[in-house]
Amino acid sequence: MTAIGFIGLGNMGAPMAANLVKAGHQVTGYDIVPAAIAALAAAGGRAAASAAEAVAAGDVVITMLPAGPQVREVYLGNGGVLGRARNDALLVDCSTIDVETARAVAAAAREAGFDMVDAPVSGGTAGAAAASLTFMVGGDAAAFARARPVLDAMGRTIVHTGPAGNGQAVKICNNMMLAISMIGVCEAFTLAHKLGLTSQTLFDVVSKSTGQSWALTGYCPVPGPVPTSPANRDYAAGFTAAMMLKDLRLAQQAAGAAAAPTPLGGTAAALYQLFVDEGMGGLDFSAIYRFIAKSETKI
Ligand code: NAD
Repeated sequence: MTAIGFIGLGNMGAPMAANLVKAGHQVTGYDIVPAAIAALAAAGGRAAASAAEAVAAGDVVITMLPAGPQVREVYLGNGGVLGRARNDALLVDCSTIDVETARAVAAAAREAGFDMVDAPVSGGTAGAAAASLTFMVGGDAAAFARARPVLDAMGRTIVHTGPAGNGQAVKICNNMMLAISMIGVCEAFTLAHKLGLTSQTLFDVVSKSTGQSWALTGYCPVPGPVPTSPANRDYAAGFTAAMMLKDLRLAQQAAGAAAAPTPLGGTAAALYQLFVDEGMGGLDFSAIYRFIAKSETKI
């Protein structure tokens, strides 16, 4: 049993914290939304009245926050993690944030004497609920070894990706590839339909050919071929277009800082921006198919 302080009990954090409780850990949770704290208490965790109280209750502190500014505030702010954590606490940030902030916060943690890893996840809310997340972990080997048993209770695949910030780097590369391949699949279906093909015919051939990708066979953006994909439930998310846009922006920010050419990543970010600007950010990211298929006058 490990004493864990958990901050950020939202769509992902709530089921992750609940899985830690199920695995026998003592979890003390805090969120700025009181109902989220109450839900953790109902799941067998302990309610903290402040972030500082949750932090002080843990030998391990886990955060699952929206973005970089919240991570900076919670770790570096007044009464934040670095000021309140137990001696020798292990700090684990599971949020998806920019590489620069991840590295800056990890450096501040090291300076203050703490082991810290960035451990963003893939697998969405379903993976969080099923404890089947993939964790991409950046930090030194000793910190990774300490984090692993706790991450095991929330995920199935735990990969050490190198030093601090490398977890975030893998995460944004993965999601940039996913967005580009999703847009490619959407364009191919749009062209196929114009050429008189059915969705099923294109799917049957390409799923066994060199154009195959997870965006096609695991998450097909047109209704029909893959019954479990969001296209069959009016694009209810899943993983929202707004979240995909967030990750594409992080990728573009990192690409700019590293002078890495990412022309298709830039185009993908621009397309998702247009889609979100149309008020579609709450739909699943595969709904970009609708935008592309009907976009003759827009792009
Ligand atoms: P969410 O908005 O549902 O949860 C974030 C929680 O943090 C909220 O409950 C919010 O009240 C809380 N919070 C914000 N500021 C706080 C503060 N200062 N102190 C305490 N609590 C605070 O978001 P989510 O979907 O759970 O995503 C969390 C992170 O995981 C994001 O970085 C997201 O990009 C990433 N992620 C999400 C998914 C997904 O499918 N939802 C998948 C992979 C990664």
